[in-house]
Amino acid sequence: MTKLSRRAFAGALPVGLLGGSLFGPAIIGRAVAPAAAQETATAPASVTPLAQIRIGRFTITALTDGYADMPYDYFPGRSPAEVEKAAAAQFTARKSGVRFLFNQYLVEDGERRILIDAGAAGSIGQTGQLPQALATLGITPDQIDAVIVTHMHQDHMGGLILGGKNNYPKAELYIDRRDVKHWTDPSKRNGAPDYLQTSFKMAEEVVRLYPRLQAIDGEREIVPGVTIVDLTGHTPGQIGVRVEDGGQSLIMVSDMVFPVVHPGATDVFFLFEQDPAAAKAMRDRFFPRAASEGALIAATHMPFPGLGRIVADRGEMRWQIADWALQG
Ligand SMILES: [Zn+2]
Repeated sequence: MTKLSRRAFAGALPVGLLGGSLFGPAIIGRAVAPAAAQETATAPASVTPLAQIRIGRFTITALTDGYADMPYDYFPGRSPAEVEKAAAAQFTARKSGVRFLFNQYLVEDGERRILIDAGAAGSIGQTGQLPQALATLGITPDQIDAVIVTHMHQDHMGGLILGGKNNYPKAELYIDRRDVKHWTDPSKRNGAPDYLQTSFKMAEEVVRLYPRLQAIDGEREIVPGVTIVDLTGHTPGQIGVRVEDGGQSLIMVSDMVFPVVHPGATDVFFLFEQDPAAAKAMRDRFFPRAASEGALIAATHMPFPGLGRIVADRGEMRWQIADWALQG
């Protein structure tokens, strides 16, 4: 089968789609190839996908730092063969595992720009695209007023400190106090497996480079309409972010939902979860509640733009992709 390059695909799209004009001002779907990629014929295509929705007065832009394939044996609670079979049933099985996207979300109210999570920044798989995605929007990191980091795993905070510096110099930084405490505790670090060491190291650097870090305790309004929600489980201080205005709402739930295995089951985990019982308890509470409320969800690792809903379907929970491209 001939491989169609992503650039060729983007190049074949009608101009109206690339510019988003077919969808009007409320929703814009874009794939923008940067000039540098167009000039070099042999370079792999680099396409920055962006998706925007409106929640009341807020514009929320889904951005992505990239992707990585997580090996099938990274999901305790199921055998690698079972996870691969589930992926095949969803037509998403890949040789090297379950594809994880790394989505971030920019929340704008016309005055302030709030970034939710900062990406893996090249520390995992094919990541490191967030700065380019922001640049495509015409936004420089020093125009970000606040960054909310949903938890201190490397794929959510790496972009804060890439290159050993404070990459969002004008931003307030919000992280749950339980995570700050856990990930900067030498006794926790000493007992942790190798694959978590990068997160411990990064956490120390984040605390050192961000004097404006605000450790937060539980539910808190960051600006009117943007509220932190406690989703402890995946890590001690994992939080979500609820954006609400004009009768509409979106909840960014970070690592509450992983592709292929969730929300169909809550007794299957991700390797990086140190307290599976806590992770299961939160999913047991959250999934049915989200289903009964029909909550619009944004999730870091779900296929871009990571927007969907949890729905109960004949006794089973499943992920229903939101019709983001059609929202008015
Ligand atoms: Zn994650």
